[in-house]
Amino acid sequence: MRKTKKNTAIILAGGTGRRMRGDVPKQFSFLGGIPVIAYSLNVFDSCEEVSDIVVVCHPGYLEDMERLVFGKDIRKPVKVVPGGETRQSSSFSGLENCPPDTDYVLIHDSARPLVSRATITSVLEAAIEEGAAGPAIDTTDTIVEQAGAFISGMPDRTVLKRVQTPQAFRFNIITEAHEKARETGINDSSDDCGLVIAYGGKVKVVRGDSLNIKLTSSLDLELAECIIRKGFGKDIETRSKVP
Ligand code: C5P
Repeated sequence: MRKTKKNTAIILAGGTGRRMRGDVPKQFSFLGGIPVIAYSLNVFDSCEEVSDIVVVCHPGYLEDMERLVFGKDIRKPVKVVPGGETRQSSSFSGLENCPPDTDYVLIHDSARPLVSRATITSVLEAAIEEGAAGPAIDTTDTIVEQAGAFISGMPDRTVLKRVQTPQAFRFNIITEAHEKARETGINDSSDDCGLVIAYGGKVKVVRGDSLNIKLTSSLDLELAECIIRKGFGKDIETRSKVP
């Protein structure tokens, strides 16, 4: 890994929608005794390949986020910036606020606090080689298409993957994809790799991590707590990749 590259991590925490515990958005919920967002901050801060961090926050929670981020002992330059109404617009805000000499970006959902350093490194290495990369895991369930009340199709499970974050991109590739999407009126894409593909780009698939779960319900928070209690979270950023 060339250390001369400037690699900026964008941590997306702009959502408020689903509230899992009490009356706070999930990025502020407590997991293993610390806020969910702190896991992503710590792991990206601990990566020597990452030079800067941009945290994208819902405008209504900027002060809370700043208090949390600047109250922590983060060694890297870190900015807290307001997000938009959709994940895509929050991601764009993160890109606009990256240092101008950024070479590569890693865009990560704060809703995935258990990301490992191994995943970050492998996705970044693949993006440096191929321009864009995302981690994915196999689909164990059979996935069907539904039309009305009936199953209308059953795609081949072996080619279906579940894509995770962080996703890594050469800076110009992802900014151009976002700009094209905005020009054509698309503002609600749920995935950055999806935007690159939509405009003819290629995205390398790297091995994801089944413990890098996305917190969407309170059950997921319980599950993440179990994973941490089992020991994976003691040193989450250095734990090895699992299948
Ligand atoms: O909406 P979803 O749960 O898929 O969100 C994925 C990630 O995108 C979360 O980390 C969330 O905080 C972030 N997000 C955002 N801005 C939005 C909506 C979601 O940064 N407007």
